[in-house]
Amino acid sequence: MSGDSVLAIVRNARAALPSSHRALLDQLGVQEKAVDDWPGEVQALYRTILEVPPREGDLANAVAVWLDRLRVVAFNAPLLEQATVGLGRQARAAAIAAVAWHEYGHALSITRSTREQRQDGVRLLNLLPPGMAQSIDYPGSYRRAEVFDEVIATVYVALIDSVRTAGYGCPDYLHEDVFQAFKEVVPWPPSR
Ligand SMILES: [Zn+2]
Repeated sequence: MSGDSVLAIVRNARAALPSSHRALLDQLGVQEKAVDDWPGEVQALYRTILEVPPREGDLANAVAVWLDRLRVVAFNAPLLEQATVGLGRQARAAAIAAVAWHEYGHALSITRSTREQRQDGVRLLNLLPPGMAQSIDYPGSYRRAEVFDEVIATVYVALIDSVRTAGYGCPDYLHEDVFQAFKEVVPWPPSR
């Protein structure tokens, strides 16, 4: 391990979020857990809530998972260490923060979206710029009903990452419908 622990970086990433988003995550009781024994330990977490865990092969490459009923984000500590070997302190922190923000985006999306909104996922996916759309493995890893959360989580990382330079408007690369759907789920601008 080099430098700060995964958990320390994740906590900093949460602290860097807009205060109203932090308040929402606090209200939801969202917690983080860095899991060293992956996937065994995370499979055990699923069993504590009487859910059938994803298969080992499906979990193996996940950098993190959101366990909705536990309100826990579990981070794959060994994989995150391995994936950031050789990066400088800042680049490593940025890479891990992006994973954390993605999972916080999931937490907000899954708890704040309606059934109707969630049916719009595939349409919104097709409106994303190619690079963003390709980061969501559909059809492949995700079922149709999961696509909406992936879109929101992916957009969340991009928008949080560019607040300082670009503010809270709709970036040029983002389709207005996607931005609108995002704003219906995530308070944006966050100070509201
Ligand atoms: Zn995701």
